[in-house]
Amino acid sequence: MIKAPTPENEAERLARLKSMRVLDTPVEERFERITRLVCRTLGVPIAAVSLVDSDRQWFKSIQGLDVEETPRDISFCGHAIMHDEPLVVGNALEDERFHDNPLVAEAPSIRFYAGCPLVMADGTRIGTLCAIDQQPREITEDELIVLRDLAAMVQSELQAASLSEAHTGLLEELKEAERASLIDPMTRIWNRRGGEKLLKREWDSMQRKGKPMAMAMIDIDHFKKVNDTHGHDAGDKVICHVAKMLIKSLRPADILCRWGGEEFLLLFPECEPQNLQHALDRLIKAVHGAPAATPAEPLQVTVSAGAVSIEPSASGCYEDYIKLADNALYEAKGNGRNRFEISSGPEPEKQVVGF
Ligand code: GH3
Ligand code: MG
Ligand code: MG
Repeated sequence: MIKAPTPENEAERLARLKSMRVLDTPVEERFERITRLVCRTLGVPIAAVSLVDSDRQWFKSIQGLDVEETPRDISFCGHAIMHDEPLVVGNALEDERFHDNPLVAEAPSIRFYAGCPLVMADGTRIGTLCAIDQQPREITEDELIVLRDLAAMVQSELQAASLSEAHTGLLEELKEAERASLIDPMTRIWNRRGGEKLLKREWDSMQRKGKPMAMAMIDIDHFKKVNDTHGHDAGDKVICHVAKMLIKSLRPADILCRWGGEEFLLLFPECEPQNLQHALDRLIKAVHGAPAATPAEPLQVTVSAGAVSIEPSASGCYEDYIKLADNALYEAKGNGRNRFEISSGPEPEKQVVGF
């Protein structure tokens, strides 16, 4: 095996990567959809946006594997960032750099690898968009063109400002280690502490800008039954699946966090009350429309949501509004589940929406 080499401009490269504040951040649909496209268009089981940090490669998005990072010295991507051209390995067993690499000799048994470097405006290569197969194979010219185009889309996304101001502010303030401590390792979305920090910031931002926001509490329906019938591991898979479906249905600026076991808090920054209903409708349908893959069998799950719109002039504190969203969720459960209810505000009179 040949270990991943260190580029000459390593210090500059790492400084650029760190300055992007993307390491140890939650999963985002704008990258998820690109890795899903790599799997579909190239017909591979595994695809990733891999960012090459000082001693690890960290996956901003990964399909087909349940890992967050792997050591840099055994990474294929560490080799791929040495050049501007994509690195293609047809059969890792026949390549002196990789034949006895643990990622080849053991799980996930990589055979085919194609990684296109992610090149920033200043020329630094911070990682790759890569496609991986457990079978040896070749890549066609057309497939390489697709991979390059998708890598260019990842580059644009990495350099675009798409998060809310409060969200960006928090990422700028936190060091990597702090950021990692605010992310739920199972679902890779913000945990409750992260959610509370973002909620405080969004609240301040709403009052400063004078624009309304909204929040929703979401809970998986009859989840105890999933655990009881299919086991705790299947339950965990369902929680991860629901998180992914929720992310898929949100705008990039919306914020999802795991509030408790199978409960999520959702923040909709700068959301006009008339748009809330549509957003909730989309997310309930997104979960309802896609069964969760579990070790046993695909499971049809649903969620219920309780939401509240918040005017910038709102009196009281955000905890009051969490309570209102919670009450609305309770009503949604009582009214049959797989539905949402919107609180009418501090003097609750629920607006009922059925399916
Ligand atoms: P409802 O429709 O009223 O929400 O019914 P429910 O069965 O979903 O009830 P509830 O929301 O109270 O269920 C929460 C369950 O979630 C209880 C707990 O055992 C389970 N749970 C909490 N955290 C986890 C987790 O991380 N993994 C798994 N597998 N189960 C969890
Ligand atoms: Mg619950
Ligand atoms: Mg529940």
